[in-house]
Amino acid sequence: MNTINLSMLEITLQSEFSLRDDGFVDDIESHAKKVYLESGKSLEEFYKDWDPPAEDESEGGLCIVDDERKAIIICYKRHANPEDDIAVRAHEETHALIFLDRIALLQERLGEIGLGVDLSKCPAERLAGYGAFYALKRRGLSGMSVSPNMRNDIPIWDFYNLQKPD
Ligand SMILES: [Zn+2]
Repeated sequence: MNTINLSMLEITLQSEFSLRDDGFVDDIESHAKKVYLESGKSLEEFYKDWDPPAEDESEGGLCIVDDERKAIIICYKRHANPEDDIAVRAHEETHALIFLDRIALLQERLGEIGLGVDLSKCPAERLAGYGAFYALKRRGLSGMSVSPNMRNDIPIWDFYNLQKPD
């Protein structure tokens, strides 16, 4: 068993998988290709899995599962706004948590900060948004200073009962 330490979510758990946090990388796509190749996968497989970001946005981070080596690899881009960094890192950590089928741990933590939500039917990207929000709140941040293009992915509007701007 491996100890997985999700540092932004401040959640530690045991798993047969291990977590490798490659940290901030210059380019998500080329880093992901490197991870595929070192996992013994081909670039064809990479392109089959790769979901290119929309033209007006860039990939903030990525979570790759290497079934062969039972490893989860996460990496992310550096943002100008430090709150964005926390959000993106927690987002990718939450994808790892989803893969490990341990999202109940996040629900527990959200309950501790007064956000009683049922995560059992949430789609993955929504869950990752809750993870990002939790990591910010945990650090005494409201989430309101996250860059506008990222804020859409974070359920702060639900939490503060605010009207979401267009
Ligand atoms: Zn995501």
